[in-house]
Amino acid sequence: MILTDTHTHIYSEAFDEDQEKMMERAIENGVTRFFVPAIDSTYTKSMYEIEEKYPEHVFLMMGLHPTHVKENYKKELLQVEQELNKRFSRREGKKFYAIGEIGIDLYWDTTFLVAQQEAFRYQIQLAKKYKLPIVIHCREAFEEVFEVLESEKGDDLFGIFHCFTGTIDDAKRAIGYNMKLGIGGVVTFKNGKIDTFLDQIPLEHIVLETDAPYLAPTPYRGKRNESSYLVRVLERLSEIYQKPEEEIAQITTNNSKDVFGV
Ligand SMILES: [Zn+2]
Repeated sequence: MILTDTHTHIYSEAFDEDQEKMMERAIENGVTRFFVPAIDSTYTKSMYEIEEKYPEHVFLMMGLHPTHVKENYKKELLQVEQELNKRFSRREGKKFYAIGEIGIDLYWDTTFLVAQQEAFRYQIQLAKKYKLPIVIHCREAFEEVFEVLESEKGDDLFGIFHCFTGTIDDAKRAIGYNMKLGIGGVVTFKNGKIDTFLDQIPLEHIVLETDAPYLAPTPYRGKRNESSYLVRVLERLSEIYQKPEEEIAQITTNNSKDVFGV
């Protein structure tokens, strides 16, 4: 059984003490593909380091996280572009597998809304230029995110709506923009809500994720999350869809291959 964690911050300082053990536990549990979203330039070095350690397992993204869009965001975006340029101008070697995570977050702070919208749009255009998927972070901002997607929609726009927590209508809308839904720990929560309608969304639109070190699934809720806990998400989806875990693992890993091209 091959499980794909489509969203995990394995380079996070939360794993400074036991990064190797954490990776071992995940791989032992069948989680062998790690797609790793960027946050901002302060993490680039540690992302490259973990990629170097696990070249067969780790697939990096590049981008600027919406909650890290601050006064210096133009400089940050320039660095995103430079890193993309560096890797894609070489004929062989390492690449990035998505632009992410990008989007709009109005939960923590609305001060930079306009800058967040601009950064989101700009990075979608970068994704199109490099023919890459996008990985969207959306919190308290469905209308704002959909507004940008509507104006950028097309065959060259595709990706994942990470940590999907919207309504069934939001889900259908996201799928309409060629997005898969990233399903993680929230699906195991008693008040997570998405478990009430997910069975109406065909599995071909679903990918699995942990968002480690955040959003640990039940029974670890509130604690540090890690990629090995993806099996809890798998268990819950098996109940919701009434299908064996092996089948869900296979379908969602195939979906991740469709999105990331690897
Ligand atoms: Zn994330």
